[in-house]
Amino acid sequence: MFNNLSDKLDKALHVLKGHGSITEVNVAETLKEVRRALLDADVNFKIAKQFTNTVKEKALGQNVLTTLQPGQLMVKIVKDELTELMGGDAEGLNLSGTPSVILMSGLQGSGKTTFSGKLANYLKNKKTKKPLLVACDVYRPAAIDQLHVVGEQIGVEVYSDRDNNDPVAISQAGIAHAKANGHNVVIIDTAGRLAVDEAMMTEISNIHKAITPQETLFVVDSMTGQDAVNTAKAFNDILNFDGVILTKLDGDTRGGAAISIKSVVNKPIKFIGTGEKMEAIDVFYPSRMADRILG
Ligand code: GDP
Repeated sequence: MFNNLSDKLDKALHVLKGHGSITEVNVAETLKEVRRALLDADVNFKIAKQFTNTVKEKALGQNVLTTLQPGQLMVKIVKDELTELMGGDAEGLNLSGTPSVILMSGLQGSGKTTFSGKLANYLKNKKTKKPLLVACDVYRPAAIDQLHVVGEQIGVEVYSDRDNNDPVAISQAGIAHAKANGHNVVIIDTAGRLAVDEAMMTEISNIHKAITPQETLFVVDSMTGQDAVNTAKAFNDILNFDGVILTKLDGDTRGGAAISIKSVVNKPIKFIGTGEKMEAIDVFYPSRMADRILG
């Protein structure tokens, strides 16, 4: 994960590690390399610039020039800032409702259906949760089939209604079904499109208004870099969602989405997807991710 970024940051910071004492020029050169590494990882220019400015201020404020091990101190400052940029503390799900309703949003192919299954499985394994999956993609019968396959795989019931083409009505009927059958969590999988369009936004917004979910999650493919961030912004403008799910982090992703999405939409990344299997789900911990990036 993020191998290229890790290598480049390591190289940038390594220069300082050998020095007993350093100058402001050393710091500036290192930070230039750090910025370059972030840009290569597809982090937005403004965010990368702001990041290195903050690191510089902190480094000079903490007297990095006169410390005995300037390299170590710089690594710590970069790690702390990276953690802060990715969200600070980990944030869990709000599962307060009876049932708690979780609405999944995102583009087609982002990994919504897969993640709906992973989350249902994750919650089911917590023993106190009995999830229900609801299939609200009325355009692609294959999407309904896919959710049923996932449900069967993990032993979670799936509610669908192939004769109904109103996703709002299906989501409401799904919640009613959950109440009647003792499910305490409802995960609603919705239709996506290949790109942001008005019809999709209106539809997801109508579902959102009708069911007022405890959690609205936005699922995004981390491989799409800055596009992921732009899509997140478009969905957040409409839904004011509660959290981001970053999928496909097992792939050859550069890291830009993970690093910049929080600061653009000001919403936490709550989970990551790290594979196609139902077990490939992890809670997102910004500090662990920063540790991983900086080795
Ligand atoms: P949806 O259209 O948003 O519901 O997306 P899907 O759940 O159908 O996922 C699209 C493709 O991405 C499928 O082939 C999934 O197996 C794959 N996929 C989803 N999440 C991950 C992940 O975390 N890692 C990898 N490698 N593939 C994933």
